[in-house]
Amino acid sequence: MKAHDFARYVDVARQPRTEAPRWFKVRSDINSAFPSPFRSETEEDPLSQGMKQALSLLNALKPEPQGPAYLGTNPAVPDYSDSANAQLGQTGLPLGDVVTQSAGLFEGMPHWNHPQTMPNVIPPANLAGIISAMMTQVFSPNIIEGEYSWNVERSELESAAMLARLIGWDNPNNLDGTTEPAPGGLYTFGGSGCYFYGMKYALTRVLGKESRSRGIRTDAKILVSQQGHYCKENSSDWTGLGMDNVVQIRTDPQTNAMDLNHLEQVMLALNEAQVPIAAVVCTMGTTDAFAVDDVKAVRALVEKYPNPAPYGKTFIYCDAVIGWAWLTFSTYDFSSNPLGFSPAVLEQVRKNYEALQHMREADAVGCDFHKVGWAPYNCSFIAMRDFTEFQNLMRRGESAYLQARTRYNPGLYTLEVSRTGAYSMAGWATLRFLGREGFQSILGGVLEVQEALRGLIQEHPELVCVNTADTGFVTLFRVYPPGTNAQQQYERELNNPDALPELKRHNELQEKVTDKVWEWFRSGQLHDGAYAPYISYTSGFRPTAYNPDTTMDGAVIYAIKSYPMNLNVGLDSMQVLLKIVLAARDEVLREEAAGHAPTPRKPVARRAIPRWGTVEDLLSGVTRRTHRG
Ligand SMILES: *Cc1c(COP(=O)(O)O)cnc(C)c1O
Repeated sequence: MKAHDFARYVDVARQPRTEAPRWFKVRSDINSAFPSPFRSETEEDPLSQGMKQALSLLNALKPEPQGPAYLGTNPAVPDYSDSANAQLGQTGLPLGDVVTQSAGLFEGMPHWNHPQTMPNVIPPANLAGIISAMMTQVFSPNIIEGEYSWNVERSELESAAMLARLIGWDNPNNLDGTTEPAPGGLYTFGGSGCYFYGMKYALTRVLGKESRSRGIRTDAKILVSQQGHYCKENSSDWTGLGMDNVVQIRTDPQTNAMDLNHLEQVMLALNEAQVPIAAVVCTMGTTDAFAVDDVKAVRALVEKYPNPAPYGKTFIYCDAVIGWAWLTFSTYDFSSNPLGFSPAVLEQVRKNYEALQHMREADAVGCDFHKVGWAPYNCSFIAMRDFTEFQNLMRRGESAYLQARTRYNPGLYTLEVSRTGAYSMAGWATLRFLGREGFQSILGGVLEVQEALRGLIQEHPELVCVNTADTGFVTLFRVYPPGTNAQQQYERELNNPDALPELKRHNELQEKVTDKVWEWFRSGQLHDGAYAPYISYTSGFRPTAYNPDTTMDGAVIYAIKSYPMNLNVGLDSMQVLLKIVLAARDEVLREEAAGHAPTPRKPVARRAIPRWGTVEDLLSGVTRRTHRG
């Protein structure tokens, strides 16, 4: 600053406020709404006032006891059409007004913590996670490096240590500059972010570090189950590998897990053709069926079919974003069952844990805290078996304006530059707050509630649960017209090609019933003395038995879905759910009989069961991608 500029500022600052230029007054008003730099001796600092106001506005958005499953009082689907009219105002609004307007944006939103909310794997966030994440908004730690976040970096380092040990990897160490292989990992922006990190790491290892500068010029393949999450497309696309290089492995019709024979067939064919495999992705819990791939067997196949020279070793990535928390059962005494789970649930818990226990075989594991961690969005962690290798492969040159003042500087090799402390604090605080027993009780508790639902379904002749063998959080069920023996009719539709017209007709019924429940949920009206639950349906739970290749149009099973992720969903919720579903069925059938037009389809992105290329297709380079209906 030049001397005369400085003098001018001093003049302004010394002037009585009434005589100061306008910029000075505006700026002072704004500054009073920043957290104060020094400790407040009263409770009246603007931050706590503002927070108090915000929290009371948020509280007011909650329904009265037994009220509907959305926030606020306006259940209508939002009309976004006026959003494009927004303009930056000439003058700013007072803090209180902005907070009030912010709270208004939550009007009508689904209420994830409500006893009738069960549409998908969306948990409410726990208080330790919420509060710790909010703290970071006040002091802005940036976990790009230790210098900018100081001990907040511990939230990432200690999460890495805890998660590595859960997976079964010893001696975790995240610090830079270690040469010994050591497990570690990073928080990032979601299960899709973890996947993306995994695929970039895989490509760099297999195609060589030079691929980072010369680009990806080799059609290396990513092998993943046909039922793996669609973010296989995001990461193959955004890494520049190309979505056509994803090879979908057939799944076993019983377990929904990767068919290991098909996997071996594909690996052998690629091996003979000297085509490198960048990664095999094991889905450790699919979103609906909770199918878990056999990572130990995949490890054996990777050892059996090594990539040809000069390519690096095939990478194994576990997409465990909705499965990882079951690892907290690694020390559970299943014989004395200290938490007292019912026998049926204890068996399911054991099965889930055993299916997931071999993830130490993987090179990296993606974990979502905003799914089975009950933490706020976004909060995901990618754990890596040899974090040292990752650091060395992905390191960039030192930056001219960042100095390594501490021993932890992940900004040297992360995709992101700035990274929020909010997700690392939320994840860390959640691990501390819940502990093993907290996770175990929440996870097992969801299964107890689900068992209750399945029991209620079984008692009703017009309802059938279609995923009785699944041990995840979802119950998928179908409702049939009055007088139908649902169990028998479903068996017929599943196995008998002659019943295809009936299957299609009843698939349509599931869709219309769910739409009707949605309409009732969104009407804000009581039906049969209860507010309708928030649920969803799947248009592709599984193909019929006679359509294993999913080549026949419409020969798939639709089902209504209950995904009870929050701790307030209990037996009462399930009784209301079934009562409303049956009432909605009656209403749909009445409307149809009266010749009313069916409810108009809401515009939703629909995903058919994906197809896969044959091995021959694959080698001629025309692997078919996921087919979208
Ligand atoms: C949700 C999900 C993802 C994507 O994770 P985000 O956190 O939503 O980015 C990936 N894989 C599976 C199996 C999932 O359930």
